[in-house]
Amino acid sequence: MPRFEEERKDMVALLRERGITNVRVLHAMSKIERHLFVKEPFVNRAYDDTALPIAKQQTISQPYTVAFMTQELDPQPGQKILEIGTGSGYQAVILAEMGCKVFTIERHMDLFLQARKLFEKMGYRIATLCGDGTVGWSEFAPYDGIIVTAAAPEVPDPLLNQLAPGGRLVIPVGDLDMQKLRVVTKTEQGFETMEAYGFKFVPLIGKKGWNGK
Ligand code: SAM
Repeated sequence: MPRFEEERKDMVALLRERGITNVRVLHAMSKIERHLFVKEPFVNRAYDDTALPIAKQQTISQPYTVAFMTQELDPQPGQKILEIGTGSGYQAVILAEMGCKVFTIERHMDLFLQARKLFEKMGYRIATLCGDGTVGWSEFAPYDGIIVTAAAPEVPDPLLNQLAPGGRLVIPVGDLDMQKLRVVTKTEQGFETMEAYGFKFVPLIGKKGWNGK
């Protein structure tokens, strides 16, 4: 049996128990090997429902958070999705596995290089950029969905501007201690916002994030 298969099944069962219902999300998370995205000494804990350290004092998000945010984003196969905060690359691969055209931005060069290498090795075609994701990636806009995996003090305008009609932005907004997940949909009338849940993310650093106004 492939390594960690039982652990991965248990992780997905827990996600179901905790209320994740989107079968495409659950299917992608049951297929993608999360242990490939972390290094020792954390490999054995890869299927615990917890965030784990990666390089540059960043984290790979908790599986439940990945599942919840992806379910809120509700990406459809073939859609163009922008992710801000590549980190380990796990979330980007989940989206690619769901059939999306994924664009992802990371501000730390080391993480960007490691993730890019992993995408290639795993055979996923994901567009990567090293830079400040708070200003989005205008070259390929508009996006059907944008997912921000770091905590923002407010919703960055450039990201709203880069949403396609009907597109959705999922972003944790709040202070450095606690955030609420905001889901913003671009409608014909403007933007519709819903708020869900308290989360704790590492900060989104940048021109339209923390330390950079
Ligand atoms: N999605 C990641 C994964 O699957 O492993 C988890 C990401 S981690 C919680 C947040 C990431 O956002 C960190 O790698 C951090 O360096 C990055 N980040 C913070 N501010 C950023 C910005 N302005 N632009 C791009 N990346 C940023």
